[in-house]
This record gives sequence, structure tokens and C-alpha cells, in this order.
Amino acid sequence: MIILDNHFHVDPFKGLFLEAVKQFHRAGGTHLMVVYKTAHDYGFQGLKAEDFMKAMDFHIELVERINRETLVKAFAVVGVHPAEFVHLAEKKGLEYAKNEVMKALEYAQKLCFDGKAVAIGEIGRPHFEVSEEIWNASIELMKYGMSLAKEADCAVQLHTESFDEAKFRELGEYVREVGIKPYKVIKHFSPPLVKVAQEVGVFPSIIASRKNIEEAIKQGNRFMMETDYIDDKRRPGAVLGPKTVPRRTKAFLQNGIFTEEDVYRIHVENPEKVYGVEMEE
Ligand SMILES: [Zn+2]
Repeated sequence: MIILDNHFHVDPFKGLFLEAVKQFHRAGGTHLMVVYKTAHDYGFQGLKAEDFMKAMDFHIELVERINRETLVKAFAVVGVHPAEFVHLAEKKGLEYAKNEVMKALEYAQKLCFDGKAVAIGEIGRPHFEVSEEIWNASIELMKYGMSLAKEADCAVQLHTESFDEAKFRELGEYVREVGIKPYKVIKHFSPPLVKVAQEVGVFPSIIASRKNIEEAIKQGNRFMMETDYIDDKRRPGAVLGPKTVPRRTKAFLQNGIFTEEDVYRIHVENPEKVYGVEMEE
């Protein structure tokens, strides 16, 4: 059985790294979307485009190590985290920060063109209060990232403030404005609003808590599952653990909340469509 965690971080400095991936595998997981953390987390400064590019290269190396040293198939997602943009703008000014982040996002696009990454992410807008000009610039950068993804025909994983129906509709407008294929825009850390997401065209990646997934599947199986595992030993329990997606999937299949068809749709057909990858090779 193929089981994907659609948003998983690894941290070779503060976390378990390969051991976390092995825990995922022992619980029955087979595929991971491994998402870039921040330049700072990877030991770079995050003060200019080159820092982000080096951090993305470092991220690609981590993903290659997972593929060499474990039985899990890992795909890379690279970008500039919205919080990194906010910090840089506060430190060096808005125009400077925007310019450097745009260059870095163009590099993320290049990694997608080269086949080293399958999506740009996580990009988007901060989940904390910022000034209006930083907020507006974050939206501009989010749209820029979406337009780069459109050009490369790759997906984009969005990080945002907590979401509701109105925000899904707002995002749907950006998707139309940019003209990217709507199913290639993934709302990471999505609430279980499967129907609304389908209506506006955005693809939800839903946090794999019992309550969320129970609600999601009542509305349909057009979603993916994630933990947003952060791999930080100093913050245990800050998010769901690495075993959660395979455990939840198997338990829900066993007790009839998921059908075999649901599992196949969520873990094979949906990611194949969104990312254009082959899940069953
Ligand atoms: Zn994340």
C-alpha cells in the first residue's frame, strides 16, 4: 500500500532526520513530500538570494540522502518561507527583501525545471501580524511564486494564516488571476473544507488529526494528508509525529471510515495529478 505524507520537514541539526523517516516507514509510510525549512535552520544566514539558494541546494542533498539511505521515496519542495521574507524585510527594507526573495524563487523554479524538486513551497503569507505593506508584499510574492510554478508546470505549496471558507475564496481569485492550473495550488495545513476547496479549485493538504480527517472524508476524497512534522527535538509534540499519516490511514481503512478506493485516491491518484509524479514505479 502506498502512503504519502504531503508535508514533512527534516532537520539534521535539531531533529532525528533519517531516524524520523525510518519511523515513518516502519509505521507503513512509503512516500514523502519533504519541504524546505528556512536558510537559518540549515545553517545559512538568509540575508540575500544566494543564502536561500545554498539552503535549497542543502535541502536537495537531504532529500537525496533519504532516497539513498532509506526505503522511502522522497520528493523535494523548495522555496522561501514567508517568515524568512518578513525577517529580511524588517532587517534590510522591503524593496531589498522583495528583490532577493524573487531571485531565490526563480532558483526554486530552476530546481523544478531540472527535475530536482516537484513543487515550490512553502511560500505564501505569514501566520502572524505584520504591517500592511509587508502583508501586501507577501501576497505579491505568493502570486509571483504561483506564476513561476505555472511556467514550470510544477505545483506550489502555500503556507498561510489559519484558513476558512472566505480565505479559500480569496485564494481562488489569485489562482484565476495568475492562471495556474488550480489543482496545482496546494493549501498546506488546510482545515477539512474539502468541498469549498474543490469549488475554488485549490487542493487541500489536511492535517492528519483524527477529527480533521473524519470530517474531510465525509465531504469527499479530493485531498492529501500531512503532519507538518518539524523534526525539532526541542519542540516535541508541537505538531503531529512522523508515524501519524500511515497509522491514521490504516486505522481508518480498518474501521471502514476509508474505503480502499479512498486510500488509493488520497495517496496515489491525487499526488500524481497534483505533482505529475509517478507514485507506483
Ligand atoms: Zn511546514
